[in-house]
Amino acid sequence: MQCPFCGSDSAVTETRDSAEGVRRRRVCAACKRRFTTYEKVGSPGLRVEKRDGSHEPFDGDKLFRTLERVARHRAGAIDAEDLRRVVRDVEATLVDRAARSVRWSEIVKLLLERLRAIDAVTADRLEASYKDERGQLRFGADDETAPAGERPQLGLFRNDE
Ligand SMILES: [Zn+2]
Repeated sequence: MQCPFCGSDSAVTETRDSAEGVRRRRVCAACKRRFTTYEKVGSPGLRVEKRDGSHEPFDGDKLFRTLERVARHRAGAIDAEDLRRVVRDVEATLVDRAARSVRWSEIVKLLLERLRAIDAVTADRLEASYKDERGQLRFGADDETAPAGERPQLGLFRNDE
């Protein structure tokens, strides 16, 4: 299992059964960071609190697709496997907390911590996408059905094109 922060190999330090599947604590052989994995992916019951106070089920695939848009044009610096690893790690971190509900801004924070270690440009893009004019993280800004003006400008970065 690759480290979500640096991509190096990791070792299992602890294994136990939990309601969400087999839980393993791991430590990275290179950067020594610790992280958790679950054999069974998916976190039934975990809900995301959006800006308007409504909730939706946590969706790792949706998160992955969002990151793919943000990481567009970063081939060589970060790839799909890196993004999947990041999403799996964020999901495991949330499941580990045993919270039933998590704010979208908290998910963005966890994503930023991990992306920053892999590719700072992608992290900056994600951060910019979810901040409003006052520099505040926006809740629920991932909602594709929101009016265009309230949507983050994902995939619209033109600086390096
Ligand atoms: Zn590492």
